[in-house]
Amino acid sequence: MSKAHYELHGRVAVIRLDNPPVNGLGHALRQGIVDGIRQAEENDAVSAVVITGSDSAFSGGADITEFGTPKMIAEPNLPTVINFIESSTKPVVAAVAGTCMGGGLELAMGCHFRIADPKAKIALPEVKLGLLPGAGGTQRLPRVVGIEAALNLIVSGQTVPAGMFMGSQLFDEFVQDGDLQFAAIAFAEKVAKEGKPLKRIRDMKVEHAKPEAFFMFARNMVGAIAKNYPAPLKCLEAVKASTEKSFDEGIRVERQLFAELMQTPESAALRHAFFADRATSKIADVPADTPTRDINKVGVIGAGTMGTGISINFLNADIPVVLLEMKQEALDRGLDNIRKAYEGRVKKGKMTEDEARKRVELVQPSLSYGDFADVDLVIEAVFEDMGVKEQVFSKLDDVCKPGAILASNTSTLDLNHIAAVTKRPEDVIGLHFFSPANVMRLLEVVRGEKTAKDVLATAMKLAKKIKKTAVVSGVCDGFIGNRMIGRYQTQALLMLEEGASPQQIDKAIEKFGFVMGPLRMADLAGGDIGWAIRKRHYEEKPDMKRLVIADRLCEMGRYGQKTGAGFYRYEPGRRDPLHDPEVGKVIEECRKEAGITPRKISDKEIVERCVYALVNEGARILEEGIAQRASDIDMVYLTGYGFPVFRGGPMFYADQVGLLNVMRAMEQFANNPMADPGFWEPAPLLAKLAAEGKTFN
Ligand code: NAD
Repeated sequence: MSKAHYELHGRVAVIRLDNPPVNGLGHALRQGIVDGIRQAEENDAVSAVVITGSDSAFSGGADITEFGTPKMIAEPNLPTVINFIESSTKPVVAAVAGTCMGGGLELAMGCHFRIADPKAKIALPEVKLGLLPGAGGTQRLPRVVGIEAALNLIVSGQTVPAGMFMGSQLFDEFVQDGDLQFAAIAFAEKVAKEGKPLKRIRDMKVEHAKPEAFFMFARNMVGAIAKNYPAPLKCLEAVKASTEKSFDEGIRVERQLFAELMQTPESAALRHAFFADRATSKIADVPADTPTRDINKVGVIGAGTMGTGISINFLNADIPVVLLEMKQEALDRGLDNIRKAYEGRVKKGKMTEDEARKRVELVQPSLSYGDFADVDLVIEAVFEDMGVKEQVFSKLDDVCKPGAILASNTSTLDLNHIAAVTKRPEDVIGLHFFSPANVMRLLEVVRGEKTAKDVLATAMKLAKKIKKTAVVSGVCDGFIGNRMIGRYQTQALLMLEEGASPQQIDKAIEKFGFVMGPLRMADLAGGDIGWAIRKRHYEEKPDMKRLVIADRLCEMGRYGQKTGAGFYRYEPGRRDPLHDPEVGKVIEECRKEAGITPRKISDKEIVERCVYALVNEGARILEEGIAQRASDIDMVYLTGYGFPVFRGGPMFYADQVGLLNVMRAMEQFANNPMADPGFWEPAPLLAKLAAEGKTFN
């Protein structure tokens, strides 16, 4: 079936794009457009053509289901379609409403005239996939909006309203509230009747008084922001070509640069992340049409660090929250923190006072479980103690209505055990938010043994509503993210014993691209958390290697930022880590006591040991079925742990390095006399894939 409908309105042919949801420019639609233009050309009764989409989308650009397939470039490919439109002898008018992005905007610029709803959403977002607009966008846009505005749009990838380009040549007319298609037909009739020359953007000149000076300035700016990403500077090169070369040569430059970017690991990583993000919501045995439960009111237990942040997510989504605490004092403190968070938004100009007040008013403070009688979902965020959680869930079982979802924010406790406290384990689920819960994008949705499918589907849908990236995890100690980070932290702490300094370790990892090195992260999270886990492990496995330096610092009460000292020193009220000679002394003493002669450790070793520790544990998590797919693990790390996005996540990164190379490095680390026996034992899945020359993704 054709995805472009051809209709005659008097002497105007209308080609209506019809490939829901966003009129992605797949092969059938592209062919339909070409056929429509040809039909109009051949019909003497037609004097002009209008290309239009739906109210919600002119076109969102490439059809992502064709990504990486031969269909994407099969003729007529997008540049061919655009050239075909542009060389039509009859005027072609684009009627732009809703989304007009990427290839969609490039298509519109191939038309001779454009009329638009000023609210239409305009963008060239290719840079977000590490690419540049490759169907003439870098050559046509500067010709109609000037090089500065064009560069801004192309380098930022941002979406802006069409109205922003009022007064430029990008749009010939705006239609505020009327019927856009009707107006476009009238416009097309008029230009045909007047015999106005066709405005081919390719024939226009780029206007700028001093392009060299501008590009010199812009290169510095873009270079500074782009750091690990090659695409923004290539975008700049392409736009620059529009000022120096003929249109056709400029197009050749654009194509060449596009092809180069396609080959970069950064673009591969960004494209991987794009698809990984979409894949997270697919659950093999929970079909997309699984019915969900309505969530119109939420209960939160515990108004501490997590409870307040979790509440804010729902308030922002206009969902009322009953916030419960044990004591009035704790409740007041929690409410005060919520209020302060909104005051902060108002101060930054992100929200009006009125809006902030309305959000805060959606909270119903409570000291009584009776107030949970009508909530649809409760999230527990009380102390991390099984005894306390047991009490809370047995209370919830008594007071909550049938069908209410009972969720725990526990980071380490056994969700199946918590569920078993209730008479309705099928309604129990883990919703593991990350701190600060109103800021961090990641939400681990923990599926218990008995969690019902509709409960899982509801949690995934709700996550979208509160703008989280939800990743399903099975039940295990630490779930996906924290279980892996434990292994990574262990390596960082071991290297501290062996000879590296906290600064060297953090710098090496930050240079690799992590937002924060492991020891700074430990200081931020609180050293006592890791210490408590280690003490438990030492009891369980007495022959386990002790991390003497980290333990000693904790024994000294150095828990990190909250105590003003950890691996670094902190000034009151500040978060920047300062070098502390005291730590140097502790390190030296501990090494001496343990009889360790420190050795020089390379940055390469630091990065490989930390990252491959993640990869090996990730492989175990995958083969145990805790994670559904390798790309889910990548999403956990990209959205919750500051893993460099341009490297695509730990599993994707390992694939890029080559699993055999990862295995070889791990063998070497295992031979280090200071290695913990068993630590570098390769996960069977990793060993198998490496032997077969395969990848995780
Ligand atoms: P917190 O100490 O800041 O807050 C806990 C709050 O729960 C306190 O205000 C306390 O008064 C209240 N509380 C305790 N028992 C209660 C009860 N029976 N009824 C009502 N209120 C009760 O702790 P937090 O950091 O917010 O952690 C809460 C939970 O979230 C824990 O399970 C923790 O493991 C988990 N978690 C924490 C983080 C983090 O980074 N802090 C991240 C993810 C998950």
